[in-house]
Amino acid sequence: MIRPRSDVALMEGYHSPQLDVQVRLNTNESPEAPPTAWTNALNDAVTTIEWNRYPDRAATELRAAIGALHGVGPEQIFVANGSNEVLQTVLLTFGGPGRTAAVWEPTYALHSHIARITGTSVAVGERAADFSTDPAEVARVLSEARPEISFLCSPNNPTGVVDDEATVRSTLAGVEQIDGLLVVDEAYGQFAPWSATSLLGEDVPLVVTRTFSKTWSMAAARLGYLVGPAAIVAELEKVVLPYHLDAFKQLAGTVALAHVDAMNDRVTRLVAERERLIARLQQLDVEVWPSGANFVLFRPRSIDGDTVWSGLVERSVLVRNCASWPRLEGCLRVTIGTTDEDDRFLAALEEVIA
Ligand SMILES: *Cc1c(COP(=O)(O)O)cnc(C)c1O
Repeated sequence: MIRPRSDVALMEGYHSPQLDVQVRLNTNESPEAPPTAWTNALNDAVTTIEWNRYPDRAATELRAAIGALHGVGPEQIFVANGSNEVLQTVLLTFGGPGRTAAVWEPTYALHSHIARITGTSVAVGERAADFSTDPAEVARVLSEARPEISFLCSPNNPTGVVDDEATVRSTLAGVEQIDGLLVVDEAYGQFAPWSATSLLGEDVPLVVTRTFSKTWSMAAARLGYLVGPAAIVAELEKVVLPYHLDAFKQLAGTVALAHVDAMNDRVTRLVAERERLIARLQQLDVEVWPSGANFVLFRPRSIDGDTVWSGLVERSVLVRNCASWPRLEGCLRVTIGTTDEDDRFLAALEEVIA
């Protein structure tokens, strides 16, 4: 039987276990459906699709609408099937055999996972004790590994920590010195107080990735994008498969951008709910980290994380179990849900740790 490439044979796939429970707070989805006005507008728009034709290969309308949101032209926007495909395309284009990508752990597992799949070597640095990005450690990895691609994730998944502007600026300065590319993954950018999109420029080796999956209540659509220099977007367009973005998805995204206010209302509600959840957690026997995202990382103090995770599942509440991840011993990550869901989570947690 044919065997895969030897490095692939040694890999483990990406796992995010799903269970049939009543309260699902494990994958950082939005707890709310998109606005009904969006669903209705999309239903009408679907009748205009010419199904016998290939879609607009350049996704012109969608890229223009996303660009307008960020105050840039369509040539500065690259769209793909979820921001994971955006990251994969960046790695296929600027990484690959003989090249290196840098990550600072703990962070989003797919940065290093997709890097390895594309044959890119991975240089691993560490975050500081409070999980912030440590400029000295960034400088060490950049000078030792000279990575072509460096990944920051802000707010960081799974810790929720936001990199401040000074940290991103100093990382960018270091990356410029080695002629690299800085990717700032802002999958949770709308929940955070500032965005690295403010540092973008045609001569700046920076791209910022975003997704419709979290803030935009559209995880089912699989749509993500990056904002960056037009010259970089043009290289990505050479690498991605032709017609990779189907006509329905392009419409769904374009129509969504006519409902930005409703989407922003959701962000405001979730940020308020996040602060309520954090305040409640602080009253329990758990360590809680501050979060700039739509999830919260916490560690029960007197019971181990696996036991708490199972106790929650028995009460039909699913959170992400990070207890065995390096540097996150005993930690769990809970997505912000509706007030009801979060109350059910809190009640179950109180019972389990009592
Ligand atoms: C969820 C997530 C993504 C992937 O989002 P998709 O657009 O659904 O592929 C990317 N980066 C981070 C940090 C995430 O948490």
